[in-house]
Amino acid sequence: MPTKKTVKPAARKKTPSSRGSERKAPGSAIKTLSQREALAPERIAAILKALDEAYPDAVCALTHRSPWELLVATILSAQCTDVRVNMVTPELFRRFPTPAAMAKAELPELIEIIRTTGFFNNKAKSIRGAAQAIVNRFGGKVPETLAELITVPGAARKTANVVLGVSYGKAEGVVVDTHVFRIAHRLDLTKSDTAEKVEQDLMRIIPRDHWIRFSHQVIHHGRQVCIARSPKCDKCNLEQLCHSKDKTWSS
Ligand code: SF4
Repeated sequence: MPTKKTVKPAARKKTPSSRGSERKAPGSAIKTLSQREALAPERIAAILKALDEAYPDAVCALTHRSPWELLVATILSAQCTDVRVNMVTPELFRRFPTPAAMAKAELPELIEIIRTTGFFNNKAKSIRGAAQAIVNRFGGKVPETLAELITVPGAARKTANVVLGVSYGKAEGVVVDTHVFRIAHRLDLTKSDTAEKVEQDLMRIIPRDHWIRFSHQVIHHGRQVCIARSPKCDKCNLEQLCHSKDKTWSS
């Protein structure tokens, strides 16, 4: 069943200081949080509540009908938009509907189909290699454990977390993509410099029952509001919890 869905953030409630032309200079209300303040349980809870309010229906934006299709789509999404991936996967799965079919695919044919997602040589090898691994080592079924999934070609920890969380409802980790990485820093949830370390930081401070939806929510927030350049802070319902130097507006 396709799960592609556009999730609009809930409108930010206007406060007296957020109306009309009362835009304040960036930095006017920014203070540096101590680590203790930043990671205080009540602050974390407020951030999670705001995300739940803004993105109550956030789901994975990659169209897929099975764990296998999600695995392939996630591998293709590296350095590529989900929209672009969703444009190529229908034809890819029409020609190669199962891991067994894709395991026997010719690389030039795979490359031709996935070319527009970029890095097509490596991605073609990865998805065919993943298909072969699933057929030869896992009986044709995408494995349900992190330890097994990360042995599949093309499936590093982030991809494994996506498949486990979305397809199997298993919270084994927090998906850290470019949006989660950026926003975790803007919200002072981490100071780490790699996705792996940021994930460990987030796993320590976010309750496990939020791990799956937290990533979906933050990814939507990063696409729609907290964009990389010039975030739309005047439309952000986390604004009063955020002390990022990147803020473009402060209440
Ligand atoms: S206030 Fe601005 S920088 Fe902070 S989370 Fe919201 S959009 Fe991002």
